[in-house]
Amino acid sequence: MNRYWSSVVGELEPYIPGEQPKIADLIKLNTNENPYGPSPRVLQAVSRETTDLLRLYPDPGSDRVRAAVAGQCRVQPEQVFVGNGSDEVLAHTFFALLNHESPLLFPDITYSFYPVYCGLYRIRFQCIPLTADFGINLDDYCRPNGGVIIANPNAPTGRALGLAEIERFLIKNTESVVVIDEAYVDFGAESAVELVDRFPNLLIIQTLSKSRSLAGLRIGFAIGNEELIEALDRVKNSFNSYPLDRLAISGAVAALEDTEYFEQTRQKIIATRGSLARDLASLGFEVLPSKCNFVFARHSERDAAELARLLREQSIIVRHFKKERIDQFLRITVGTDEACKRLIAALTEIIDVG
Ligand code: PMP
Repeated sequence: MNRYWSSVVGELEPYIPGEQPKIADLIKLNTNENPYGPSPRVLQAVSRETTDLLRLYPDPGSDRVRAAVAGQCRVQPEQVFVGNGSDEVLAHTFFALLNHESPLLFPDITYSFYPVYCGLYRIRFQCIPLTADFGINLDDYCRPNGGVIIANPNAPTGRALGLAEIERFLIKNTESVVVIDEAYVDFGAESAVELVDRFPNLLIIQTLSKSRSLAGLRIGFAIGNEELIEALDRVKNSFNSYPLDRLAISGAVAALEDTEYFEQTRQKIIATRGSLARDLASLGFEVLPSKCNFVFARHSERDAAELARLLREQSIIVRHFKKERIDQFLRITVGTDEACKRLIAALTEIIDVG
């Protein structure tokens, strides 16, 4: 603890993102990036925007993005908030809507940024254990709470809840905000966006990082009742007036408009996920059913950390979490068919030799 630091800084436990190593010929299956580039229309839009207009500030409300999201999701622009990646949208949500007397509830195994935001904003929280098969039982969340946040599908497990289960929970949990983090929803799960008009305490958060392949441009959004959105705008306008720059705004609009490219690439990823899961199973892995652009798998005999290390020696990186209950799992991003084939070939060799 340095004497110049504010006292909270020494107590923070920052999030550790997956590494971005600079290794040549790397097969990078560790941070759930999309293996296909963004839509060509995004690249055109971004380059069209790269002019001397960059000397001017962008639109502080990112109104074009709000309108594009509203059009896609069939809601009103006033029901949309946009931010610099869904991480920033999440941060504002924790600050604006989830800090109350009773504890915020989330699963013991979920996106590891949630407890980090609780530390940053001093929010009380309680972790609810996943079921034995790594699922979420929303009945376990029917207890006094100051808010609930669920990633659906959950990360890093990949498992998804159905819309009916979420709706049943919302009927019971009316006194606090329920946030559904749908970062991976486009890879086969059901979105709860259609419920926002009926439940004023429901906030959906999505990102353009995964299914729209724009992790590098940083765009996320939230959809919910106008008053929830107003709370987020109040925080945003007390923090950073221009979270989306000019390139991000034009790229986001182009990405949201190119429905055909979006459909093609996500269907490819869903198909590759199926073959990857089958190949892993035939090598002796248990693979949790995934609705994401990654699979979560453990081998019946081989230690996960060791497998990750041996893969790395062959320039293939996957994610391993040193965390109780899941330390024998690997989280493997669905890459191109070619990348997945190389992964399976490397694992076949490792497991045969072992
Ligand atoms: N939510 C979940 C569940 C995630 O896995 C991620 C990606 N790390 C995010 C949100 C944040 O994504 P981004 O900030 O790129 O939108």
